[in-house]
Amino acid sequence: MKYSLVIIINIKMSENSEIDHMLVTHYVGGEKIQMSLAQKNYLIKNQYIIEPIRLVMIQWKDNCQFCTEPNGPSDAKYVGIQSHMGFISCPNCMQKMNETYNEWMDKNAYGDAKILLGRNIKVLRSSGEFENDWELNPYDAYVLIDANGEQIVSCKKIGEDLNKHCNVKMLIEWNS
Ligand SMILES: [Zn+2]
Repeated sequence: MKYSLVIIINIKMSENSEIDHMLVTHYVGGEKIQMSLAQKNYLIKNQYIIEPIRLVMIQWKDNCQFCTEPNGPSDAKYVGIQSHMGFISCPNCMQKMNETYNEWMDKNAYGDAKILLGRNIKVLRSSGEFENDWELNPYDAYVLIDANGEQIVSCKKIGEDLNKHCNVKMLIEWNS
């Protein structure tokens, strides 16, 4: 997050027209920020990593994270169905969205808990007892950060429609 903002602050304005200074909304590290159109174009042109956004209450037409002139119905790829986090693209940028999605899943899915992927893991239930037969939630790879700056990830009871968010550090400790 800090790193991304530093990049934006350091962007040199390419041109000086009024349109370039127009403010637009963009998303960095899941947060909504305002920047000039010139800055947004610079980010897109230079292919800085685009982060998943929360796909709730958004416009499903002419909306795209990958270009400046989206046109037509938008489509999304979710990195977390439960957290509603994912990428949105116009019809022209689907391939770029797929690449970005694949790259994000490779690098960021499940955060540090990724070492537990595909394993039968145990979690601490609210009853205070440990329980086996859980897994990293296959429907939600998005890592939340709690107030202490720690990673939180969604776990799912294998074969059941039951899930729970767990502190990643604790999860790794319980399952090592
Ligand atoms: Zn587009």
